[in-house]
Amino acid sequence: MRKKILAANWKMNLTNGEASDYLEVLVKELGEVNDVEVVLIPPFTAIAALAALSDRAPFIRLGAQNLHWEKSGAFTGEISAGMLRALYVKYVVVGHSERRLLFGESDAVINRKVRAALEAGLRPILCVGETLQQRENDGVEKVLEYQLREGLRDVSPKDFSEVVIAYEPVWAIGTGRTATSDQAQAAHAFARRILAAVSDHAIAERVRIQYGGSVKPENTEELMRKPDIDGALVGGASLDPRSFAQIIRKAEAALAA
Ligand code: PEP
Repeated sequence: MRKKILAANWKMNLTNGEASDYLEVLVKELGEVNDVEVVLIPPFTAIAALAALSDRAPFIRLGAQNLHWEKSGAFTGEISAGMLRALYVKYVVVGHSERRLLFGESDAVINRKVRAALEAGLRPILCVGETLQQRENDGVEKVLEYQLREGLRDVSPKDFSEVVIAYEPVWAIGTGRTATSDQAQAAHAFARRILAAVSDHAIAERVRIQYGGSVKPENTEELMRKPDIDGALVGGASLDPRSFAQIIRKAEAALAA
């Protein structure tokens, strides 16, 4: 049974002080969470503030939005996996579509980051997904297969189930347009078949595949009921702790359904 993982990608939002206030509200709203995994992914500058409050919210895991693949050195402006580990970070987003499209990250770079994260004991959240143009020209499956095969190239079988995949159709990110639950389920089932082809069936069954793209409280439960949707990567709707708390509650409700 794969534990659902609900992750809040704050992108370039919230200061360290605002992050602490957010956590207080989230904890007040939620009390305790046992059945799903909750990950907060703040900007680098707010990670330490959240780590310092971890005893207030032991159910929360920390994530980062990016990393560099080298361990240290002359890479001005970059952050290594080891630096993140030292702040108790467990997850790191790799290959978000904003990194691919706005910062020119290639699948080869993304693969280096995935492997660096795993080598340091971090769990990469590898984002894949098609643009609208790719959906129309190439088809979803071709894009997903390429991004998964390249992103996971040379990942060892022992590390495979540490990876989380986030299927994020680019046309659904920050647009208010969500993939239907059937569209998302079809893409997730296809992604799992590719995972089985590059590892094996048993490993692919253990890998969690999150959906991302305009997830909000109103559409969470239906998405989370689908058999291959193992959680959500939430951008905009995660910036308000009350709304993210509702998303977590809806995901728990889907488990009970
Ligand atoms: C994201 O940035 O990963 C994302 C899914 O954003 P939003 O929820 O705002 O569409």
